[in-house]
Amino acid sequence: MENNTIDISVVVPLYNEEESLPELLAWIERVMNDNKFVYEVVFVDDGSKDGSWNVVSELARSNASVRGIRFLRNYGKSAALYSGFEAARGRVVITMDADLQDSPDEIPELYRMVTEEGYDLVSGWKKKRYDPLGKTIPSKFFNATARLVTGIRLHDFNCGLKAYRNKVVKSIEVYGEMHRFIPVLAKQAGFSRIGEKVVHHRARKYGVSKFGWERMIKGYLDLISVMFMSRFGKSPMYLFGGMGTFMFLVGGATTVWLIAEKLWKQSQGLAVRGVTDQPLFYIAIMAVILGVQLFLAGFLGELIGRGSPDRNRYLIEERIENKKE
Ligand code: UDP
Ligand code: MG
Repeated sequence: MENNTIDISVVVPLYNEEESLPELLAWIERVMNDNKFVYEVVFVDDGSKDGSWNVVSELARSNASVRGIRFLRNYGKSAALYSGFEAARGRVVITMDADLQDSPDEIPELYRMVTEEGYDLVSGWKKKRYDPLGKTIPSKFFNATARLVTGIRLHDFNCGLKAYRNKVVKSIEVYGEMHRFIPVLAKQAGFSRIGEKVVHHRARKYGVSKFGWERMIKGYLDLISVMFMSRFGKSPMYLFGGMGTFMFLVGGATTVWLIAEKLWKQSQGLAVRGVTDQPLFYIAIMAVILGVQLFLAGFLGELIGRGSPDRNRYLIEERIENKKE
């Protein structure tokens, strides 16, 4: 099927959400039919252990717009999204959690923002949030830090409800726990028109949250990786080589200075202190050694980068071809 025959692909990652699925699909159907959208819903079952997959197969039997992907085991939300993105054929791709916390009523406006206002990505913002405090407070800090270091002015990076232009989802690779940073990945790929829409949020109706308290620690570590990858991912030597050279030079110069000073004083017949009696000497030697190590880390990074399959992956937005042979 051609891309442009489907207006919207709704990608729903799910893990043990059997109770919510029929209700969610009915609601999506209603919104789509009211707005006369041609749509598909891609349910990605991330290795559920309950009856979720049976429910998805049931739903697919009664609604021809439903597609399903089932993982062999639980790989995580990022993997589920990635796989759904690969499958999505719609002009606009909308992701949504399966637990009925995100409202399908937001779909028409999100669609409009992407198709008419020209956004590459529109992220939901759960301004009024129905989650426990243990989740909302750390999340505020997390988002503030993410805004600060990425320069992307979103209030809710990790909102499950997002809309994308098809090209965006085909161009980014969500892996590990990177689903929290999709706007950052998109911006790095060159999609700079990132918008935000306040969305309605509801308390979880069935089941339990699939993420525990570790989410915050992991979130911060991933934030550091993302920033590192974006600044130095393509040229680790700039970071490590720079720091290494600096430490090597400072340490080396200090060592030479200590030895030279001693020799000079000796030649003048002054009292001298053994070079190895001075703490500064050990600090200097340490700097030299660390400098070499850092330099090596940068060099190894470059070697590894050379073998990376996407070392030359560029995204082409448009092209003009000359018809002449
Ligand atoms: N999810 C998933 N794989 C996982 C964990 C979660 O596909 O390993 C799905 C889950 O079924 C839900 C969405 O990701 O549709 C968001 O998860 P949850 O509602 O537990 O997160 P929270 O709302 O607590 O942030
Ligand atoms: Mg939820």
